[in-house]
Amino acid sequence: MPHNPTPSRVDLATVRQCSARSKRTGEPCRQPAMANGKCRFHGGKSTGAPRGNRNAWKHGGYSVEAQGHRQELRQLLREARQALDDMEEMQR
Ligand SMILES: [Zn+2]
Repeated sequence: MPHNPTPSRVDLATVRQCSARSKRTGEPCRQPAMANGKCRFHGGKSTGAPRGNRNAWKHGGYSVEAQGHRQELRQLLREARQALDDMEEMQR
């Protein structure tokens, strides 16, 4: 059975660090991060919860639907403000 006696080491100084922080000390994790910016201890391989998962659902304020509503409202406000600006501009 082939065995690799010298496993390749990644340079810990250049590799991206895990973005997790300790709950108790507030210190950063400092493990090398995987593709999603988290190390192997903090969900590096995880693709996240499945779509539609409601295990931590409280009020839906961050649901895709609610975020869409807020985005539409912001766009409406933006357009209304712009319209008012344009009207002000025309009065000069
Ligand atoms: Zn980590």
